[in-house]
Order: sequence, then C-alpha cells, then structure tokens
Amino acid sequence: MTIVTAIFVILLVDFVSGVVHWAEDTFWTEHTPVLGKWIVCPNVVHHRDASAFVRNSWFQSSWDLLIGGLVILGVARLTVYCHGLCGYSS
Ligand SMILES: [Zn+2]
Repeated sequence: MTIVTAIFVILLVDFVSGVVHWAEDTFWTEHTPVLGKWIVCPNVVHHRDASAFVRNSWFQSSWDLLIGGLVILGVARLTVYCHGLCGYSS
C-alpha cells in the first residue's frame, strides 16, 4: 500500500463515517426499531452534552464499531481467500 493509498483510505473512511453520522442524526431517532435503542440512543447524547463521550473509555464508546470493523475485515479476508481458491487472484 502506498502512502497515497493510505491517505485516500483514511479520507474515505472519515467521509463515510460523516455520512453515516449525518444519516443517523437525520433519519433515525431513539424510537427507530432496533437501531434506535442500540445505536442512536448512546450516540445522540453528544448533541445534548458535548462532554459525554469523554466520560467513557474508548472501548465503552467504540465496542460496536470495533465489532463492525472486525466483521468487515473478516469478510474481506474471506473474499480474498475464496478468490485464491477459485483461481481469480492475480
Ligand atoms: Zn450527531
């Protein structure tokens, strides 16, 4: 991975996380089924109390993102592995 690719990936992840945050704030509420209680409730606290995020540890604030990232990495690794088995790797 080149430094340009790394910078592009960091900027892309920052952009996507911003879009997800905007979508969460715009389209979902605490009353949205499943996602409202699990994702929106803990995240909208920062709109009412800006220092709420720093009261928790990094793991308490990010455990769900960590699991999501691990799932994405697992799927990506499995995809690369399967392409290797099928002979599509170059
Ligand atoms: Zn927000």
